[in-house]
This record gives sequence, structure tokens and C-alpha cells, in this order.
Amino acid sequence: MIDLHTHTWRCKHASGTVADYAASAANRGISVLGVSDHVPLPDGAWPEPRMGMDELPAYLEEIAEARRRHVGLRILAGFECEYHPRYEAYYREELLGRLGLDYLIAGQHWFDAPGGIQSVYDPAGPKSVRAYAASVVAAMKSGLFAFIAHPDLFGYFHPRWDGEALAASREILSAAAELGVPLEVNGLGLRKPVLRTVEGVRPPYPWSPFWELAVEYPVVVCFNSDAHRPEDVGAGIAEGHRLVSALPLAEIREAPLSRRSSETVP
Ligand SMILES: [Zn+2]
Ligand SMILES: [Zn+2]
Repeated sequence: MIDLHTHTWRCKHASGTVADYAASAANRGISVLGVSDHVPLPDGAWPEPRMGMDELPAYLEEIAEARRRHVGLRILAGFECEYHPRYEAYYREELLGRLGLDYLIAGQHWFDAPGGIQSVYDPAGPKSVRAYAASVVAAMKSGLFAFIAHPDLFGYFHPRWDGEALAASREILSAAAELGVPLEVNGLGLRKPVLRTVEGVRPPYPWSPFWELAVEYPVVVCFNSDAHRPEDVGAGIAEGHRLVSALPLAEIREAPLSRRSSETVP
């Protein structure tokens, strides 16, 4: 099993060091562990759920140390990123380039919308699912990301499967198919409190209608835990597989990494 989406204590809302995650992954028979904490941002934007820039060297050193200790476990160094065009050069040249990270994930928690930046976490604020979808599509077009984390996250702030949700989903799915960017079935949503909506009770994500619609597109799907505790490495992956395996999705396979990584790692 591979798990390419995990967080550490450095993001301020997770627990465990990289060493703790590596030990947990080794105990659970994981073959590839991707460490993908929330990316530090050079302009200090949205500082609450992420490490500071000054922690970057120590984060990478923690990963290097875990690699030395767990030679049988392939450990990849990554980040889960907020995509915005203003960070493209930093992601490409600094993180993937100079620092040689193995991969980046796009996970949109903040996005540009008419009237300003919106947050998926702000229950009172205005929300635009179409703006969310546009930001996800822009992330895919950048070519920076190995996959899109929880593309169906918008079901959190837009709990109705209505025309807007359908249109946003089609925009995401058609771009993912066209650009060949995998979409993640995210296990963390299965561990979160259920949402009570007018359409019934459901996990916030994976959101079934999104994945049922996905069968119309030749998308590639990947499965990750989004663990925020070492004991959650691998969590939700089997359930995610079960959820999607009932659907006639044309292709389901493991997520490829960024081009840089697949060139350097056999
Ligand atoms: Zn997190
Ligand atoms: Zn995450």
C-alpha cells in the first residue's frame, strides 16, 4: 500500500514527527510513505495551519533522517500546497527545483473568487463552487502537482448536489481527464464528523455524487489517508477503494509522482 498524503506536528494541527509516521508506516506494511505537510508560504499567508519558512530545513532533515533509519520504506518528501499563481515560481524553482522535493499536492483550502479570497473553513462567508473549481483547474494546468487532494472538498461548504455543484464537478473532472492529473479519494473525510444536510447524512468527503459522475470521464483516481496522527497512516484507503470500486471508473491506479521524481526514482 502507498500513502502519499500525511501531516506532521509542524502544521500546528497534527501530531507526530516524521520518525513517528515512518515507524507507523513500517508497522502497517506501507511500501511508500509520502510526507506532505501543509506548505510554508514565503509571504506568510494563512499562517495558522502550516509551518513557518524557517522550519523548512528541519522538516527536510527529519525526512532525511527517517530515510536513513527505515531503509526498507520508501519515504517521499512533499508538501500539500495552496495553489495560487503568485506561488508558482516558489513551488517550481525553490521547492521542486533547488530543494529537490519529490512531489507537491494541490489542496485548495483558500481560493480566489469574485469579491476576494474565500476559505472553505469559513462557514459564514460567501462561497462560490465555480471559483473553487476554477482554482483547482488552474492548479492542474500549472503542471506542478502530482495529484489533487480531495477535489470534492467543496461539498463541505456547498452541501447540496445542485446545478452549481454539477457544473463545478464537470469542470474539475474534464480538466483532470484532459490533463491526466489524478484525483484523490481522501480518507480523512471519512474520519470527520458527518454532515447533516437536506439531502441526508453523509461524510463531508468523499462525496458520492462527485465520484459517480467521475465514471463519465477517463480520470485516474488515487487513495490516501491525509493522516494527521501517526496511527492514521493508511486510514480510510481501504474504505475509499470500496467506495469507488463499486463504480465503473475506467481507470483506477496508484498516483504517479511528479515528472521530476519519476525521472530520478526507478
Ligand atoms: Zn491539515
Ligand atoms: Zn492534507
